Amino acid sequence: MQAPAPGLVLFDIDGTLLRRAGPHHREALVSAVRSITGIETTTENVPVQGMLDRDIVEQMLRNAGASPALIRRSMPLVVARAQRIYARTCPDLRRRVCPGARMLLYRLWRRGVPAGLVTGNLTRIGWKKMERAGLRPYLRFGAFAELAKDRAGLVRIALRYARGQGWIDGQTRVALVGDHPNDIGAARANRIRAVAVATGLAGAEELAAHSPDVLVPDMRVLTMEMLLGL
Ligand SMILES: [Mg+2]
Repeated sequence: MQAPAPGLVLFDIDGTLLRRAGPHHREALVSAVRSITGIETTTENVPVQGMLDRDIVEQMLRNAGASPALIRRSMPLVVARAQRIYARTCPDLRRRVCPGARMLLYRLWRRGVPAGLVTGNLTRIGWKKMERAGLRPYLRFGAFAELAKDRAGLVRIALRYARGQGWIDGQTRVALVGDHPNDIGAARANRIRAVAVATGLAGAEELAAHSPDVLVPDMRVLTMEMLLGL
């Protein structure tokens, strides 16, 4: 097995690698719910920031009065349909990459530090965004919405995968970069470094209240030292 990498960095997508990616993601969820259940829903009144896609769909359906049984039954179909719709409608996202994100991913790649995704996006939606943003080549793997109940569970899956690949061992520094208090909580729950970027909806003050290990306005100012202590 290869020697472990000098570090591992996990990235959230929305508000972290990308911002203002447009309504297409939300529209894909609404269209998928409509075509599977016939119910008209909306993401208004759903605090989508920091939420996992399946939880967003559940909340949309609940707000529209759907029964728990119907929600449970339709979820796998809605999830499949939403991903198919998004793959078709996702716009060019190259200009939606957050400041400094592309350069940071490039620097990690140059140093042989694996980078991966930990995101509330469904698998195909997350990868599609990365592809259309031109970031796909920098990301080795990902843990996506349908794999766990919450973000802490997704981080756990990502760590297990990286360990299985021989990229990390008990000594490797691991960081999670995110724009939401939920990202900080997920890092904490897994005892990895919580790096908060104020490029999403949560302001620096709100993020600071959750005591991340590092807090920066955006990724342009993130050094390897701040990220991984390298
Ligand atoms: Mg986010």
